[in-house]
Amino acid sequence: MKRKPSSRDLTRQEYRAFITTGSLSGLIVFAALLINIRVSVFPPEVETRLSLLALGGTIYAALYGIFLAALRNHREPVMWANALINGAGLLFFALSLPAELFFYYRLIALFTIISTAILSERPPVLLTLALGMFTPSLIWLAHADTFQEVVERVGLPLAGLVISETMLRIQEAARRQIHRLETINAFSRQVASTLNREEILALLNTAIPKAVTADSYYIGIQEGDQVQIPLFYDDGEYFNGGRVKIEGTLTGWVVKNERELFLPDLRRPLDLPGVNIVVAGKNKESLSWVGVPMRAKQIRGLIALASYQPNAFNLGDMELLANLSQHAAFALDNALTHEEVEKRSRLDQMTGALNHGAFLEVLQKMADESLAQHSPMSLIMLDVDYFKRYNDTYGHLVGDTVLNLLCDTIRTHIKNTDALGRWGGEEFIVALPRAGGRQAFHIAERIRKTMNEVQVAGRVDDTIPTPTVSQGIAEFPGERAAIFDLIDLADQRLYTAKGRGRNQIEPGELFWETTR
Ligand code: GH3
Ligand code: MG
Ligand code: MG
Repeated sequence: MKRKPSSRDLTRQEYRAFITTGSLSGLIVFAALLINIRVSVFPPEVETRLSLLALGGTIYAALYGIFLAALRNHREPVMWANALINGAGLLFFALSLPAELFFYYRLIALFTIISTAILSERPPVLLTLALGMFTPSLIWLAHADTFQEVVERVGLPLAGLVISETMLRIQEAARRQIHRLETINAFSRQVASTLNREEILALLNTAIPKAVTADSYYIGIQEGDQVQIPLFYDDGEYFNGGRVKIEGTLTGWVVKNERELFLPDLRRPLDLPGVNIVVAGKNKESLSWVGVPMRAKQIRGLIALASYQPNAFNLGDMELLANLSQHAAFALDNALTHEEVEKRSRLDQMTGALNHGAFLEVLQKMADESLAQHSPMSLIMLDVDYFKRYNDTYGHLVGDTVLNLLCDTIRTHIKNTDALGRWGGEEFIVALPRAGGRQAFHIAERIRKTMNEVQVAGRVDDTIPTPTVSQGIAEFPGERAAIFDLIDLADQRLYTAKGRGRNQIEPGELFWETTR
């Protein structure tokens, strides 16, 4: 069974290096023991027994490396087998040695516990410790005569515990750090490939809980004198964060000062004049809080973490958050720029009306909705009467002013949900969803009347004749069920209105029918 490799795994090289070191140190100690037995004076049968023991240990130390290296991909069972064999081996070794060779046991025990702690996780290490160090200690403790002997016998397994625990913790910290780097890396990679604000927020929503442990987190983006909260997670639930004021809030303080704020214990008085703590989300008071600013050219905001426990966060958490925040800020900034460029590219520069292409797109959408909702939609096509004269007599700038005045007038008479487009030159087009020909006629009539009262200011203070417009109306889908046919019809009617003498509206047939 092959596991997917993760950052928790040692590389093949690291694994070999650790095993080789453990194996070699074992070999050296057992070989030294063998020599010691040879040069010391023991009764022959004791010498034979001890030599066999030392030889067994030497062979074990050599095979140990080969055995573990071969089974690298079966980490879990090998970890336990290794812990059990090492623990039992140590125990046997300890009980077989005479007191004057005890030094060798201590050395082997420390080497064993170190190599086990490098290669295994906490539970197997504890097994080795319990079997190989605490058990012999307890047995000997019964025979301890002096205080020094007691300390010596208790001290060794305790030293083993401290050494292995320190190593396990260092490893855990390293793994956590690697995991954090991976999270930041993955986030920065993903976030760089999107120009969508919602997607960026969703990515943050996955990255934050992966990187830190918090009961609550939220993102805030400044809008005027408030901070809008598009993402707010608290104790297993998402809340509608709404808005908070900048003045007098922790959130506002971070956004306004563009500085990190690390509050390990909110029960202590706040050192920020005028700032109060507001309980939001679940009605539970947080006891620790961390906020980092989120800052880019057009973005001012923050990411904040909270916990119901005091001292829940460390400076590493804040550092990590600051990192995520920086990537998020740039991404949000790009998204905003992209949105603006996109929006601008859809508008006619001079009048701010939708350009030809954008209007057609909007119109098609409105037509689809109109069909889906079984409600009519109307079009008004408008053209300035004798526009050429304005250009020719008063100059192009005055011509432009007339066009802007017309657009302003149209806007005062239509809704936000209606669409105004510049169809070409001095011809404009208005789409009115959920409006029949009759309603369209009334709107057109209001536009016509307002235009009749408009004053055009010229370069020199001469009075420029008031411009008038002619308009043609067509209704969807009653009169035409395809948008190009509909536009065509409105255009034809516009020219009918021109033909009738200008400053007029040519409504659809339905209008005449219902009026008659
Ligand atoms: P009609 O009553 O038949 O509509 O007469 P008109 O003079 O308005 O007719 P026409 O459509 O021939 O004239 C349109 C003129 O609008 C031609 C073009 O030079 C001018 N024009 C088009 N776009 C602009 C613009 O953005 N600014 C200015 N000042 N003039 C423009
Ligand atoms: Mg014209
Ligand atoms: Mg024209």
